[in-house]
Amino acid sequence: MGSQEVSSTVDWQGKHVTVAGLGVSGIPAARALHERGALVTVVNDGDDERARAQAAELDALGITVRLGDGATLPPSTELVVTAPGWQPDKPLFLAAAEAGVPVWGDVELAWRLRGDDGREPAPWLAVTGTNGKTTTVRMLASILEAAGLRTAAVGNIGVSLLDAVLGEREYDVLAVELSSYQLHWAPSLRAHSAAVLNLAPDHLDWHGSMAAYAADKGRVYEGNTVACVYNAADPATEDLVREADVEEGCRAIGFTLGAPGPSQLGVVDGILVDRAFVANRQKQAQELAEVTDVDPPAPHNIANALAAAALARAFGVEPAAVRDGLRAFRPDAHRIEHVADIDEVRYVDDSKATNTHATEASLAAYDSIVWIAGGLAKGATFDDLVTGAAKRLRGVVLIGADRALIREALTRHAPEVPVVDLDRTDTGAMSEAVARAAELARPGDTVLLAPACASMDMFTNYNKRGEAFADAVRARADESA
Ligand code: ADP
Repeated sequence: MGSQEVSSTVDWQGKHVTVAGLGVSGIPAARALHERGALVTVVNDGDDERARAQAAELDALGITVRLGDGATLPPSTELVVTAPGWQPDKPLFLAAAEAGVPVWGDVELAWRLRGDDGREPAPWLAVTGTNGKTTTVRMLASILEAAGLRTAAVGNIGVSLLDAVLGEREYDVLAVELSSYQLHWAPSLRAHSAAVLNLAPDHLDWHGSMAAYAADKGRVYEGNTVACVYNAADPATEDLVREADVEEGCRAIGFTLGAPGPSQLGVVDGILVDRAFVANRQKQAQELAEVTDVDPPAPHNIANALAAAALARAFGVEPAAVRDGLRAFRPDAHRIEHVADIDEVRYVDDSKATNTHATEASLAAYDSIVWIAGGLAKGATFDDLVTGAAKRLRGVVLIGADRALIREALTRHAPEVPVVDLDRTDTGAMSEAVARAAELARPGDTVLLAPACASMDMFTNYNKRGEAFADAVRARADESA
């Protein structure tokens, strides 16, 4: 079953498909394939109570589930459908490669199954990048909605592509967030247009190298028909466009925080302008929206808005809808979220800043900052981050397992900045972090939770970390009211 033979019209009847991983993508994939007549076996590493309950449900449908062994490829397998997070060097995939069995991820499966019920499939506008994906995809969906299009923000955003593709709702176009893992396993995906927002080292343990990570991100441009949107400030994204095989007539469209050149979107005197999708791009620029229409109007977020606007314009959306969609957009929780002002100090929750690249953008958005940082560093180094922000740091409060790494970078590059090192990981730790940050802050400052680290050493996830911060801040606000 090579990629050419298997199309949306594939006859699944009697095909032996192995689904790797029970879970949010595995279970719906197994069911969809089973409903189409495939002989499905689900393999799963874990064998806990939850897995057993899920296995029992699938078993009742006639789907075979093998718990406690996700490594061995069932002998008659003709196709593997994997959860996106499964690492490519797992024995299961090596066995599949050896046997010439193709491996698809959840995105590839959705792509192949779209339209197999006879409905006209909706085109995909795809977004990837190290940071800003969710925000950009939501902005894009908001713009498409403002244009009166039937759409949804789907993919690596909590709404499964398979559900969107197979569900009853009809769409004119989908705003699709794709992770590097999903792209790795999506060889035949062909988006209408796509954007790579930025590229910074992340998930390198999974991909093996920066080059492999970039190559997987770059797959999003493969086969684009109208526009490959790149970040003019991040040449690596433009390189990926150059390397991609696209449809005849597909254009490279840049976005920039400066004045745009021809075939770019950019910013002039506080206005977002389009010099790409206009009749005469040598001479003409079209006003789309004002910087103040974007919430929050931090530089990186303006970049996200420009990328979303570029994709919407590639799809033919009118300028007024870009403005209306951006105005209607509100950021998700824990992404530069303003929590409260107490004693003329602003408290901002950017718990989602789980890597240094995100935190760099976050720190660049404020002039004078008490920074709360730390957690699990995932192999990151902090020298560049600290060097870039040193002048704007009023003080730093460090939390979490790898805080020594940040403290050492501060000692090296910002020795004059006061640092509070919190040696506790209990549930009260965040309250103390906020209290100590409040002591360091002066009127006009921003206390910013932008940890540059993952949260799992102290919290279940970044949501919980952000909530702990916001709770602590609100408790202080109530006290001071
Ligand atoms: P993703 O879905 O890629 O994780 P989000 O939109 O959820 O991205 O934003 C994650 C974090 O990345 C935010 O908290 C913010 O600090 C940062 N961020 C958002 N957009 C950008 C950008 N364009 N460049 C750098 N950092 C960004």
